Amino acid sequence: MYSCEEHIDEALDDWVYGVETFPELELVDNSENLWITCGYCENKAIYMVGNECSDTKYRN
Ligand SMILES: [Zn+2]
Repeated sequence: MYSCEEHIDEALDDWVYGVETFPELELVDNSENLWITCGYCENKAIYMVGNECSDTKYRN
């Protein structure tokens, strides 16, 4: 799950509601010129919310 600055609280709330564990929160690595959009709007994602399992899934 990716989120921009504006929607990070919403993303964390959704994660905790769905998984009931507190997620890891990482900054999106923009060094590869990736344009990853927020899951809630069209802005560029700044944060990646998830655990190691979902992180593996998103990287594939
Ligand atoms: Zn957003």
